[in-house]
Order: sequence, then structure tokens, then C-alpha cells
Amino acid sequence: MLKNDQLDQWDRDNFFHPSTHLAQHARGEAANRVIKTASGVFIEDRDGTKLLDAFAGLYCVNVGYGRQEIAEAIADQARELAYYHAYVGHGTEASITLSKMILDRAPKGMSKVYFGLGGSDANETNVKLIWYYNNILGRPEKKKIISRWRGYHGSGLVTGSLTGLELFHKKFDLPVEQVIHTEAPYYYRRKDLGQSEAEFVAHCVAELEALIAREGADTIAAFIGEPVLGTGGIVPPPSGYWEAIQAVLEKHDILLVADEVVTGFGRLGTMFGSDHYGMRPDLITIAKGLTSAYAPLSGSIVGDKMWKVLEQGTDENGPIGHGWTYSAHPIGAAAGVANLKLIDDLGLVQNAGAVGTYLRDQMQAALGDHAHVGEVRGEGMMCAVEFVRDRDDRVFFDAAEKIGPQVSAKLLEQDKVIARAMPQGDILGFAPPFCLSREEADQVVAATMRAVKTVLG
Ligand code: PLP
Repeated sequence: MLKNDQLDQWDRDNFFHPSTHLAQHARGEAANRVIKTASGVFIEDRDGTKLLDAFAGLYCVNVGYGRQEIAEAIADQARELAYYHAYVGHGTEASITLSKMILDRAPKGMSKVYFGLGGSDANETNVKLIWYYNNILGRPEKKKIISRWRGYHGSGLVTGSLTGLELFHKKFDLPVEQVIHTEAPYYYRRKDLGQSEAEFVAHCVAELEALIAREGADTIAAFIGEPVLGTGGIVPPPSGYWEAIQAVLEKHDILLVADEVVTGFGRLGTMFGSDHYGMRPDLITIAKGLTSAYAPLSGSIVGDKMWKVLEQGTDENGPIGHGWTYSAHPIGAAAGVANLKLIDDLGLVQNAGAVGTYLRDQMQAALGDHAHVGEVRGEGMMCAVEFVRDRDDRVFFDAAEKIGPQVSAKLLEQDKVIARAMPQGDILGFAPPFCLSREEADQVVAATMRAVKTVLG
């Protein structure tokens, strides 16, 4: 038990929670949970209930909870130097070391890392750098950013616009006009059921070409995408997708931003998703797995081509007018260094690939034939189960029935396993820590089967 028994009331009275039904929470109608401690893949709440966290927080605690090596690195850094800024050439041993460690692991052609605090601000940085780049190149009209419907890139003004999910736009006057959206590479939800995967890729390419033709290539600066769609439904792209999209972007001189906030540092069983899919990005967004969320830290990895122009820009205009007080915060950087070392020492990238594949295969074997399971899919340590009313004709449930949320609630209630009801569609998502064992994967699958049976028979 925690020391303070008024926490529930204080929570309802004072705390504005993100992505929460505010009124129900304030009125005490929606469940809340106070988390006290955690170890490995398990978190424990104030009442001592242990839950298997098969979503690694928000797919971020990649090395698992309770890693003393990272806690010690944070404590040592706080004792030695809790803070100094990174403006006008200042750095710390941790931030400089971490930038080298990131570049050593990054795909070819990357030049420098700018550090922020979270994925949203890193993508805001990316958009500013893209605009700056085209201004320096004398192309002030080339500014629009293409993102995919169902992409998730944050919830700031521009990044919330890049995000292609209704909930993040509704009533916020988003998207802003510089952001335009194109087809999601979501083969299962293709309109024409008879379309082959290759035909669907050709359709995504045609949609992109048509959008570029409508808007004018000279107005489009960049295309942003997650290697695997995450919050939009955990959807690996159809085979050949990235190669085909890149050919279009290169033809029209459009930059590619790989948003690797979820996939960076091992989630797909490779260090970066870009390597996994042969992407050749100009910018890479990193966050979550950079520190395994032991401290807030994000980054924009800038490719050689852009970097040269940024240097030219400062020769012409003076220092770059972009920075946060907490850019390259020493405590975040120390956590990042310890985290990346741990990932290497424990072989966690390989484990994410091997156990992730096992989890998906077991889930497929357990639920693949269920009358209301349309698809079981995944890549590396990401897996999703999509529910449908009728699998033969692929008829979806009415959103108001909340099938996805019901299954995730049962999973929690019956077997104390956390999976995420993804925000758009009846999709149950899994993204466990990389240290998940095969036994724990079996536990997740058995619990999911039980929850699906309870809700859907
Ligand atoms: N990009 C991707 C792919 C994400 O999944 C997220 C968060 O889930 C973000 C960006 C935004 O990161 P943050 O919530 O740290 O701002």
C-alpha cells in the first residue's frame, strides 16, 4: 500500500490525464490505477496487484522494468551534474557519448543527432528542419508534408496534424494546412477484397502520385511514415511497399522521414526499422526505446544530405534558431548510454526478433481460426489481433460496441495481462518488453484466448 490513502480523491480532483475521458475520470465513473513499482515485464499497483505488461508502458520500456544499471547511471549523473544546457556548443560526457552510440547503430548516410524530450517534439523539430532546408535551397514553396492516414507522429500542433487518426484532430482544428494525408498501407483493410498484395502496393503508389500531381511536387517537402504503422493498428507494410514509395519520393525530390519512435533500437528484431525494410531516410525520429523510458529523451537523426544544407544555412544566417532548455539533458543522456549498453549486453534485439515471432505464431495458432478474428499480424515484438463481425465478407463491428476495449478489459480483469485496445478499429495490440520469455509469451496467448472467448464466444 502507498502511504497516502487520499490519492484516489486527489487524482480525481487535481490531475489532468492525457488521452482520458476527462469528465468520467473527474466524476469517479472510470477506473483509475495507481502504479507503485515494476520488475521485468510486470508492473504492480498500489493494492499489490501484479500485471503482465504486454505493451511495455506505451511500447517504450524495451529493456523491461527495474533495471538497476540504468537507475544507477541516472543517480550517478544526477549527483555529478544534474543539468547543463547544450546551447552554443556545450555538452556533457553522456550526451556526446550517446550521440556517437546512436550514429554507430544508425542506418548508413546519417550525420548528426539533435536531442529533444519526446517523440512529438522530435517530429516538430523535423518539420522545422525541413522548412529551413528548403528555404536555404531557395525553394520557399516546397513546404507541405505528406503523412499517411492512421500514421501516429505525436499530438502537438503540426505533429498532431501529421497523425492520421480522427481522435487527434477532432475539435482541435487540425490538421494544419501544410499537412496532407495519403492512403495507409493497410492491406487487410483494402477496399477491394480481390486485390493482391502487389496490386494494393500499386494502388498506394498511384494514390501518392495523384496527391503529388494535385498539389504540385514543387509544394511538397517531405513524406513521413513509421516503418510499421503503430498506434494506427500495428500494421506491417505489404511486401515491396517502402521500395515503391521511395521511388516516387526520389523522383519528385521529396525527403523521407522515418518515424522510428517505436521501431528504433530493436523492436523489429533489427536495430532500426529502416534497415529492416530497406528505407533510405533523410531524417529519423527516435524516442521511447532510446532510454527505454527510464528518462524522457528523443532525437532527430539528420542525414548527410540535409546536414550539409543546415551548415550552409548557419554560414549564411548565423546560429540555428532552434533549441529547448532540456535538449540533451544529461540525465536522459546517461539513461540512454546505459540503456543501449544493456540492449547489447543482453542480446535484446535478437530476443525481440525471436520471441516476438514466437508470440505472433502462437497467437496465430490460438486465434487464427476464430470466427471473429479477421487477422493476426505482427513483426518483431509487435503483434495485433483484429476482430470482425464476419470474417468471410470482412464486415467490421460497429465502433459503438467497443469490442476491442471489451477484450482488453477482460484480459486485464481475468488474467491480469495488459494489452492495448488500439484507438481506431477493434484491434488488440501487443508490444511487450524485449526481455519477454517464451513462457511469458505463452501466458499472454492463453490469457488472450480466454478473454476473446468470454467476449466473443
Ligand atoms: N511517433 C510515433 C511513431 C509514436 O508512436 C509516438 C508515440 O506513441 C510519437 C511519435 C510521439 O511520441 P511522444 O508521445 O513521446 O510525444
